Amino acid sequence: AAKEGGSRQHRRYCPELDDRAGEAARLGVEMRMGLDTGQFRMVYQPIVALPEGRTLYVESLVRWQHPERGFVSPADFIPVAEQNGLIVELGEWILRTACAQFMRWREEHGANAPERISVNVSARQLNEPGFVTVVADVLERTGMPASSLIVEVTETAVFGGGTAVQAVKDIHALGVRIALDDFGTGHSSLGLLQTIPVDVLKVDKSFVDNLTMAGRHAVIATALIQVSNGLGLTAVAEGVETAEQAAELHRLGYQLAQGYHFGRPVAEPDFTLTEDQAVPVR
Ligand code: C2E
Ligand code: MG
Ligand code: MG
Ligand code: MG
Repeated sequence: AAKEGGSRQHRRYCPELDDRAGEAARLGVEMRMGLDTGQFRMVYQPIVALPEGRTLYVESLVRWQHPERGFVSPADFIPVAEQNGLIVELGEWILRTACAQFMRWREEHGANAPERISVNVSARQLNEPGFVTVVADVLERTGMPASSLIVEVTETAVFGGGTAVQAVKDIHALGVRIALDDFGTGHSSLGLLQTIPVDVLKVDKSFVDNLTMAGRHAVIATALIQVSNGLGLTAVAEGVETAEQAAELHRLGYQLAQGYHFGRPVAEPDFTLTEDQAVPVR
């Protein structure tokens, strides 16, 4: 059996690879159709001030409602869109939609509207030559002040080299804020702070999980808020799911947080203060 193992495994392995490639190709075709028939929409998750829970920013997140597959997670289709390049068109739509929505909220909600909106941008978009022009064009057409936009990039997207670093610098030069997403989980977390202009550090959920148990998580969360404060950045704690985590983050010096505890991503967030979100000050 051991003798045959190699070739049999080999024969079994290839179709699986084909399946995966085929699946990505199908998803790509369906994504193209989805773009043309309006299957994508945006949802928005509050980023709140601690301790009182007022929504300061919102993060925009894309959703795909597929006619047969149902809800497809961005974690599944964003990588495919990056591979086949559709992220360039989808990403432009995302940026325009989010900025237009932000401006509508400003009109409707006035002082209760969020101060800024953040948009996730992938490596492929950053390395696309025309991307900075697209950002400038969206700002101009929507009338949105550059300082109200936060572009979220991951360490890996910028670390990948290419022209991404220059693109981040050029976008920042427009007056747009730059956030480092999932901070602490990539290749070069601290080094990147010396390479690209950063305004917002989004401290990854993995450091927030188990925060309330004694141990390493609190040590890292504390070190990260010190780095952030020392560099004059704004730290956002991601993935806050409980009141206890929120209280502990506030105690450690965090002023901004995001997570299911404060609100899930929805099409129309409620910008009025809800008391149950407020963190008990200890
Ligand atoms: P991300 O940018 O780090 O977004 C945060 C993710 O965590 C979102 O998942 C959000 O729904 C989820 N989340 C927020 N609070 C909590 C919490 O308390 N607990 C848990 N368990 N999860 C929470 P989502 O929307 O599925 O997006 C996953 C990733 O897909 C994003 O991670 C981002 O990398 C990518 N993505 C989403 N929308 C876009 C987009 O418009 N453009 C691009 N390029 N990427 C996007
Ligand atoms: Mg993000
Ligand atoms: Mg994140
Ligand atoms: Mg993430």
